[in-house]
Amino acid sequence: MSATPLASQVDSLNAKKSELTPSLLGASVAELTTWVQQYGQPAYRGKQLHDWIYDKGVRSLSDISVFPKSWRAEVAEIPVGRSTLHYRSVARDHTVKYLLQLADGQIIETVGIPSFGVKGESSKSRLTVCVSTQVGCPMACDFCATGKGGYKRNLARHEIVDQVLTVQEDFQQRVSNVVFMGLGEPLLNTENVLAALKSLNQDVGIGQRSLTVSTVGIRDRIRELAQHHLQITLAVSLHAPNQALREQLIPSARAYPIEDLLAECREYVEITGRRVTFEYVLLAGVNDFPEHALELAKRLRGFQTHVNLIPYNPIQEVDYKRPNRDRIEAFDKILKEQQIAVSIRYSRGLEADAACGQLRASNS
Ligand code: SAH
Repeated sequence: MSATPLASQVDSLNAKKSELTPSLLGASVAELTTWVQQYGQPAYRGKQLHDWIYDKGVRSLSDISVFPKSWRAEVAEIPVGRSTLHYRSVARDHTVKYLLQLADGQIIETVGIPSFGVKGESSKSRLTVCVSTQVGCPMACDFCATGKGGYKRNLARHEIVDQVLTVQEDFQQRVSNVVFMGLGEPLLNTENVLAALKSLNQDVGIGQRSLTVSTVGIRDRIRELAQHHLQITLAVSLHAPNQALREQLIPSARAYPIEDLLAECREYVEITGRRVTFEYVLLAGVNDFPEHALELAKRLRGFQTHVNLIPYNPIQEVDYKRPNRDRIEAFDKILKEQQIAVSIRYSRGLEADAACGQLRASNS
C-alpha cells in the first residue's frame, strides 16, 4: 500500500504512543462473553455486561448490581472506558457542545444536534451526534479551526463510542444519526473508526445508513474503506472544483491530486453501490464564483453524488468571509440547473462555536 507521507507520519506517531488500554466499551456481546469467562464467570454475564454498558450506561463495574459482590470488588478498577464531562454549552438552536476529558487528560469536542421533524417528513425528532476521531487534526486546512491547534493522537474505539452514549444520556433520547465530522481526520484513524462504526451499529443499535464518515481524502483509504462493503454514507470534503484552488485551501491536496481523489470516489460508488456526498465550504470571493459552480458540475457529471454546500462559519485565525445569501443561492441554483443533487447546509450551533469547522479542544 502506498501511503502519503503525512499518513505514514501520523501512523508512526501513533504506533510510538503506548497502546491505549483496551476498554470494555466498544466490545461486542461475544467479546464481553469471552472477557467474563476469563474470570471464570458464566457466559450469560457477557450479555448482562453488554446491557449495563450500552443500555444502562454504567461507568464503573462496581455498580453492576447483578454481578456477585466478590467479583465486582475484583474488577472494580478495570475501566469501562467512559470520559468525564469537562464543559457543556447550549446554543439558542438547542445544539449542545460538550468538551469531554479522556483518561489521559486530553480534551475533545462532541456536538449533539436535535432536530424536530421537517414538514412532510416523519414528525419524529432526530438526534444527531457529531463525533471527533482524533485529538486535534494534522491536516491544517486553512479555513478550519481544528487544525490550528495541531495534532495530538488518534482516538481509540471506546473514546468514539463514548461520545455517542454521552449525548444519548444527556438528551435522554436515543441517538438516530452519527456524523464523523468533529475533530480529526477519520481516515488517518481507520482501524478505530471502523471498530467504532461496528459497535455503534451492532451494540448501540444505530443503522449503518444513519452513520456518515467525512474525510478530506487520504490516498488509498477510500478504496480500503470500500472493501468493507458498509452501507454507511461517505462524505468527502472537496471545497474546490480544481486542483489549483484545492491546494490553496487544503495543504494535503498537493500530494493527492483531485483527479486521483475523484477516481477513488468513483471506485467507492462502484464497489459499495452507495452515492458519495461532496462537501463544499463556500468562501466569499474564493471558491463561490459561478464559474466554480459550472466547473464543479462538469467534474461531477455522471457521478452518483450529492453536493452539500456549507456556508463558511467564521473562525478567529483567518479572514475568510461567508458569501451573502444571494450568492449562496446562486451557486446552488447553477448546480441544480446542471442536474447535480445539491443542498445547502446552514450549520447549527454557531454561537456556541459548535458549528462545522469551529471545533477545537478548548472552551475559549
Ligand atoms: N477531517 C474531516 C472531518 C471534518 S468534517 C473532513 O475534512 O472531512 C467538518 C467539515 O466542516 C469538513 O467538510 C470541513 O472542511 C468543514 N469545515 C471546516 N472548517 C469550516 C468552517 N470554518 N466553516 C464551515 N465548514 C468548515
